[in-house]
Amino acid sequence: MKRLAAEGIALAALTGIGLAIAANANAYVVQLLFSTALAVTLAVGWNLIGGMAGYVSFGQVAFFGLGAYAAALAMLTLALPWPLATLGAILLAMVSAWPLGRIMLRLSGIFFALGMFGLARVLQIIVNTLAITGGPMGTSVPAAEGPAATAKAMVVLAAGAIALTMAISRSRFGLRLAALRDDAIAAAAAGVDTARVKVIAFCLSAGLAAAGGAVYARNVGYIDPNSAFAGTIELQTVLMVLAGGIGTVWGPVLGGILISLLSTALWASFPTEQQIILGVLVLLLAVAMPGGLASLPMFRSWLRRPMLGAEALRAPASLVPAAFVSAANNAPDCHDARPVLECRGLGKRFGGVVALAGIDIAVRPGEILAVIGPNGAGKSTLFDMISAFSAPSRGEIRFRGHALARAAPHRLARHGIARTFQTSRLFPSLSVFETVLLAAASRHHRWESAVRSARVILDATELTADAERFPDSLPPGRQRLLEIARALALEPALLLLDEAMAGMTAAEIARVHAALRAATERGTAIIAIEHVLPAIAPIAARAQVLDNGQTIAEGPPADVLGDPVVIEAYLGTEIGTVS
Ligand code: ADP
Ligand code: MG
Repeated sequence: MKRLAAEGIALAALTGIGLAIAANANAYVVQLLFSTALAVTLAVGWNLIGGMAGYVSFGQVAFFGLGAYAAALAMLTLALPWPLATLGAILLAMVSAWPLGRIMLRLSGIFFALGMFGLARVLQIIVNTLAITGGPMGTSVPAAEGPAATAKAMVVLAAGAIALTMAISRSRFGLRLAALRDDAIAAAAAGVDTARVKVIAFCLSAGLAAAGGAVYARNVGYIDPNSAFAGTIELQTVLMVLAGGIGTVWGPVLGGILISLLSTALWASFPTEQQIILGVLVLLLAVAMPGGLASLPMFRSWLRRPMLGAEALRAPASLVPAAFVSAANNAPDCHDARPVLECRGLGKRFGGVVALAGIDIAVRPGEILAVIGPNGAGKSTLFDMISAFSAPSRGEIRFRGHALARAAPHRLARHGIARTFQTSRLFPSLSVFETVLLAAASRHHRWESAVRSARVILDATELTADAERFPDSLPPGRQRLLEIARALALEPALLLLDEAMAGMTAAEIARVHAALRAATERGTAIIAIEHVLPAIAPIAARAQVLDNGQTIAEGPPADVLGDPVVIEAYLGTEIGTVS
């Protein structure tokens, strides 16, 4: 709360100073204010997709140019007043960013960045050839009477952009963005609709860039394709974000203000060398401080993402219900004899490799099935298909009686299939509590119930003491435990554990067993993959042994252990000691 108040005061102060300068200063200073506020708006907007969502773009200037031209044409041909034209430009950019984002955001890393670069160039070429835009000569725009009005508008826009990211960083959406940036696959497994989250971030980012472009056009009174789609705008924006602190709320603001003031000061003294000096300074900064100014000790606590739910954690425990109330969706199936999951003839080929050669597997509500087998048997591949991370080459998967075909992983996560990964996939920037909260929020629409459910899960897995720690500071066993807690927070009907207990101490295994037993009492069916049986045998009713993509034995764990075929599969070693 204190942090929010401090940020609010900083934002109000910056806005107040900006508006006061716009109203009182001379034209030169007001122009400087305009370019600084524009820089902040563009940096904050770029940071939404490039920093907070983790999709670095080299082409957000496409939306700056689109906004500039859309507003100009709206004023020229539709005779709209400029505030309305600006609003129209923002809407147009956001609406066109939706389908564009759907396509472009399938790319990742450098491919997305370059794709966006290409998009900006394509738009520039189109604008260059159209008659209505004035072609390469550009077009003049009904200009403002003086710089004060546009400077004020730009300050208000910048303040709005900052307020938007402040709100996002404290919201469920912000939590999902952070998870997406850290690990998109784990985010999907926690029920996050990653495609949607990143497209929303892309649209917001496009809207801010377009707003900047629209007010820019009004301010200069003239636009042409080279200035509206200038690569230097993009480059400067990226540099500002990197200098300030990518992915943070205040880094881009800091970077935007400092770099635009610095570049003006440099320009006054060294007009010809300005760009070179600026480039060298930014390079030095990047080498000395890869995290930007945000990584300076004086800024660090303030520029870090505010931790969500910290207040809820400190709320009196009496607010938390004593017993975990099970998900309503488990109840109908509970103690019903019908399998929750039924796979028939499931097969998967990777080119010439047959990972799974057609297996049948079924599990009932409240049942724990152990799946064991040597390395390469196809166990993880089986989980990838059940949780829709990969499509089967053949066979059928039925979940609660419905065939799963073309389901998205996040949908299954929300509707009752939770999983862990053989190699840990945790979110480095999410606290233990936030990690569990992220999954709980996929299940509960009301934030309060998500928080409550996350607290109950933390208590059940004895992670409450670590709630505010980050995963990389936890011992390996507790990291695995956190992954199990995240899966349990989805209140699944079917829980898939992929060697979840590997590397745990005996005490930790006992704790997991207790949590799993509690889950089965609520009707959750569990399939637990273990490389060796002892970690799971005490609580499993049945075991199914895979080898070479086929089921080679099935039955009560004790019987399976003694089966000669199984011993043979483990190369004659005693299963109990294979590790
Ligand atoms: P397990 O989990 O039982 O150790 P996996 O399911 O990971 O086994 O792998 C089964 C087989 O499929 C192995 O031979 C593995 O090399 C192969 N495999 C798994 N994933 C892929 C992939 N993405 N591409 C090619 N081969 C794969
Ligand atoms: Mg595996």
